[in-house]
Amino acid sequence: MRRLGGVHAPHRKNTAGSKPERLPLPKEIVLPMSMHIGAPAKPVVKAGDQVAVGQLVGEAAGFVSSPVYSSVSGKVKSVGDFITSAGQKTTAITIESDGQQTLWEGLKPPAVTNLDEFLQAVRDSGVVGLGGAGFPTAVKLTVKELDKVDYILINGAECEPYITSDTRTMLDETDFVAEGIGLLRKFFGKKIVIGIEKNKPEPIRVMKDLTAKTEGVEVFELPGLYPQGGEKVLIYSITGRIVPEGKLPLDVGVVVLNVTTLAAIARYVKTGMPLIEKCVTVDGSAVKEPKNVIAPIGAPIKDLFEFCGGLEGAEKILYGGPMMGIAVPDDSVPVLKNTNDVLAFNKKDAALPEETPCIRCGRCVKACPMKLMPLNIETAYQLKKPELLETYKVNLCMECGCCAFVCPAKRRLVQVMKLSKPMLKSYQDKQKAGKEAKVQ
Ligand code: SF4
Ligand code: SF4
Repeated sequence: MRRLGGVHAPHRKNTAGSKPERLPLPKEIVLPMSMHIGAPAKPVVKAGDQVAVGQLVGEAAGFVSSPVYSSVSGKVKSVGDFITSAGQKTTAITIESDGQQTLWEGLKPPAVTNLDEFLQAVRDSGVVGLGGAGFPTAVKLTVKELDKVDYILINGAECEPYITSDTRTMLDETDFVAEGIGLLRKFFGKKIVIGIEKNKPEPIRVMKDLTAKTEGVEVFELPGLYPQGGEKVLIYSITGRIVPEGKLPLDVGVVVLNVTTLAAIARYVKTGMPLIEKCVTVDGSAVKEPKNVIAPIGAPIKDLFEFCGGLEGAEKILYGGPMMGIAVPDDSVPVLKNTNDVLAFNKKDAALPEETPCIRCGRCVKACPMKLMPLNIETAYQLKKPELLETYKVNLCMECGCCAFVCPAKRRLVQVMKLSKPMLKSYQDKQKAGKEAKVQ
């Protein structure tokens, strides 16, 4: 079996058997215009406007962008500044729900008879990488040289502890997954492989049943290791191909789509309903009744916690899993397009272990799926030597957290990776500016 580093992280899939329950309608929703990679969407409504469910409220502002739709009917309260959990300033639209959930009158399935119409539908659907990446899916599927694509990989690996929303997609949205596969086969005609870790027998069984009689589609059982869901790791595990530095999956003939992304595209093509809600896993030691929740995009995560029995002694709240998630200041932040889970941990689980000196055991090197040397990167960062950060290729780090997970000295290696990247970028910008000045 092919393997690129990785670790045996505890699964803690407490909610795998929890069929998603629908969140009661929130009083208001907040829709940031930056819920994707690329240019923020441009608001097309103003305070006081009445909007309906599925109505466009933010239009895509370029090729690498994505439209935003209202998940409730009601009145626009404000269009104003918003700070994302990553600290970036953007615009957000706040909408007060009228409790009616009136559907927008223009909702209808798009006409999709050829590849161009399919790509337009994907653009209009508002779907972005729902596995967490948030990259606009239409951009990913816009392939200039289709004959160079050999595989479309459907990412059903859900390797971070706790998260089970993709598992539920495979179990509960099987028809939309099937429709999505049909669309890909029809318009791309490529081999499709669904990758699922072997420790998820139920989704594997359901997907195998689904694809048993479909030509050109198969299920691949991945190792039960974290991070199998990382794009480059998935590609290597299934095809044996390595995406070279600075290149994209397309450069090795592969397109990767998350399984929930695929189901959301199929839903739009079938019903005309754009992306307005998400299945979110709500878990962690401070959550009284962990479960999967279908929440309108923009709903405050506070509502999700309350729906799960409330919080008890919460000290830390995360968007995302414990390996790659981002800590948020409080529970007022909204569910975003790419929110798969929200976790809340009590004091014991939120506490950071004491850091001790590196013992140069090399475990971080063995665990790194990108074949980096985290201990050397840490030293380069501490010495403020950006030229060494370049040599050690910190830019390739996917911030998966495997190095920190295995480190017996509990070094804060992921934080070091995150801080090293801007240090390297600033150094490279200065080098470039220096070279350009010499040429002039
Ligand atoms: S795993 Fe930790 S202690 Fe071991 S070499 Fe890496 S940084 Fe040092
Ligand atoms: S966080 Fe970066 S350096 Fe650490 S294991 Fe993951 S890819 Fe490697």
